[in-house]
Amino acid sequence: MKEKIHPNFGEAKVICGCGNTFMTGSVKKELRVDVCSKCHPFFTGQQRNITAGGRIEKFNKRYGQKA
Ligand SMILES: [Zn+2]
Repeated sequence: MKEKIHPNFGEAKVICGCGNTFMTGSVKKELRVDVCSKCHPFFTGQQRNITAGGRIEKFNKRYGQKA
């Protein structure tokens, strides 16, 4: 690699919208993301509350709270 033309690549703290944080490599010190491996629907197996969420939420409130 050529010297002095590359940005400093180092550890970066990633902060997700769900509150999860983890470390990764980046030229930036801090990264903010909307979705991460902890809250992405592919990994959680749950639908995101975009369209159908409201209905499910209502249903759970009405019928799902009986433990
Ligand atoms: Zn997340």
